[in-house]
Amino acid sequence: MECRRCKKDLDEDSFPSNGVGGIRHQCKECMREINQRWRKQNKEKVAIYNKNRKSKPAQCAEVPTENSTQGE
Ligand SMILES: [Zn+2]
Repeated sequence: MECRRCKKDLDEDSFPSNGVGGIRHQCKECMREINQRWRKQNKEKVAIYNKNRKSKPAQCAEVPTENSTQGE
């Protein structure tokens, strides 16, 4: 499979999961680069995200939605 970003022909193991049963079209190396770049460009967002994550209880791993209807 060819990475759409770096155009390298890589094994599927080199592509991260997309979370919905498939794999991404960018290889892990490219994803890491993309993430690092994003973090540099969004330092404030990352700081807020990390801060929020620390203050949340462990059981709330998923992002909670306000006014969510639980147990109808
Ligand atoms: Zn790549």
